[in-house]
Amino acid sequence: MNAEAATNELIQRLGSTQVLTDDANRYRASMDNLRLSRLPSAVIHPDDEEAVGAVLELANKHRIAVTVRGAGSATTGAASPVVGGWVIDLSRWNQLHIDPLSQMAYVQPGTTIEAIDQAAAAEGLFFPPDPGSKKYATIGGALATNAGGLRGAKYGVIRDYVLSLEGFLPTGEFVRWGADLRKYVSGFNIRDLWVGSEGMLGVITGAVLRLIPRPATSGVLVASFADDAAALEAVQSLFRSRVQPSILEFLDQQTLACTYAFWKQQVPEKLAALPESLGRALAAQPAPALLLIEVDGAIDAVAQELQRIEDLLTQSGGACLRAESPDAAETLWTIRRGCSQAMFQLGPDKLNEDIVVPVSAQQELLEYTLALKAETGLATPTFGHAMDGNFHVHIMYDRKDPDQCERARKGIRLLMEKVIELGGAITGEHGVGLAKSPFLELQHSAAEIQAMQAIKAALDPNGILNPDKQFQHCEVWDYPREQVRMPWDH
Ligand SMILES: Cc1cc2nc3c(=O)[nH]c(=O)nc-3n(C[C@H](O)[C@H](O)[C@H](O)COP(=O)(O)OP(=O)(O)OC[C@H]3O[C@@H](n4cnc5c(N)ncnc54)[C@H](O)[C@@H]3O)c2cc1C
Repeated sequence: MNAEAATNELIQRLGSTQVLTDDANRYRASMDNLRLSRLPSAVIHPDDEEAVGAVLELANKHRIAVTVRGAGSATTGAASPVVGGWVIDLSRWNQLHIDPLSQMAYVQPGTTIEAIDQAAAAEGLFFPPDPGSKKYATIGGALATNAGGLRGAKYGVIRDYVLSLEGFLPTGEFVRWGADLRKYVSGFNIRDLWVGSEGMLGVITGAVLRLIPRPATSGVLVASFADDAAALEAVQSLFRSRVQPSILEFLDQQTLACTYAFWKQQVPEKLAALPESLGRALAAQPAPALLLIEVDGAIDAVAQELQRIEDLLTQSGGACLRAESPDAAETLWTIRRGCSQAMFQLGPDKLNEDIVVPVSAQQELLEYTLALKAETGLATPTFGHAMDGNFHVHIMYDRKDPDQCERARKGIRLLMEKVIELGGAITGEHGVGLAKSPFLELQHSAAEIQAMQAIKAALDPNGILNPDKQFQHCEVWDYPREQVRMPWDH
């Protein structure tokens, strides 16, 4: 049976309000933030779990590919239906319930990360994972990519907060992994296999999440350094001193130089809003490197820890400035929030990598980004979550220029090879999807990849759930990107 006939059978089963086949809905579901578009035959907004099961049953019967979708904010093409087929959109499934006694959140997969934390906050509780996309990203997508964020420095990633998951095997049977209990070791831990499986091993329709008491307060500090090496040396001194910031963000000199230039030309009010000493530091030539730090906890503890960190950073040559109020802290964070957009000063297109290196190799990585800049002739501004060694290395280029495309492509491969040489990981947050698929073999041995494929084949014998991802090489540079505005574009 062809895809059209299968889709007609699906419409007969679920009705045309749940199964959409119009161009606008299919186009919207055809891509994620990578903007590599492949049109599905239908987009399904299931009313209930029975409908999800029915979609999978028919998909297996007719061998139709199924891609599950949350907000579509993945940056790797993981949510793009590369071989067409059907998209199950769960973004409207956004019910959540907080149990304040057991400190758990019961969530549907379309609930946003921000909504979960806001509901937790109303009970004095905290859901720490905070991807930059938290206002839009759904918990289903975040679980499927094991998303992290700034607070990973102290609080880890989504996986650390998952108690149980429920949903459907690719073959259409309903399953529940784990329970709403703090401890559970019965059977194989397939719950954790689903976390980070990028929608290839199951469809998550519900989760129970662990919450923790909300810290009473937080404080923010910024420290500027003469150069990248000095800032990263200061990071090492923080590690050695056993301090525990909740956020430790590093911004390199290239990032600061373009942010300053962009703000000066386009948004001078942002520069004017900064404390004078920080504005002066940013104007320095060459540009400084920055550490942005948040400490949270009990009021006295935060004050003491901030003082300790300030002393350590000052000894390391940093010029420190503390935010005296939440508003002042917000102003400091504008630098981190604004720097991504400012990078487009350095090239109209961006490759955003999310590699990880060991603590001891952070300086070598940064030196390598400069070597890469020299070799490719393309800017490589870098910032990242220094406590995790998780750096966003960007390569700025012009997609319309074939020579620059070639240099960017070469640069990414060289970067990935270096990361592996340093004992690091090709991705720490975004996952593999399509974009990192050419590098999977750099990270994993043949035996490891075969084991992953065997698990995929065991759970999804017909290969219908999010096929042609990870194991199939996709050179995403070879494909055009859609010029569309997405909700998180500023
Ligand atoms: C501006 C911006 C900032 C970002 N910042 C961060 C960051 O700080 N940290 C970080 O980790 N990531 C970040 N990301 C990447 C992305 O936002 C996260 O991976 C996010 O968690 C994806 O959620 P989503 O709802 O958009 O998922 P989608 O993009 O819709 O899907 C992502 C993957 O999950 C699968 N999936 C979705 N829902 C389900 C489900 N219910 N069951 C099974 N599989 C499912 C999809 O098939 C796909 O493989 C950022 C992205 C953007 C655009």
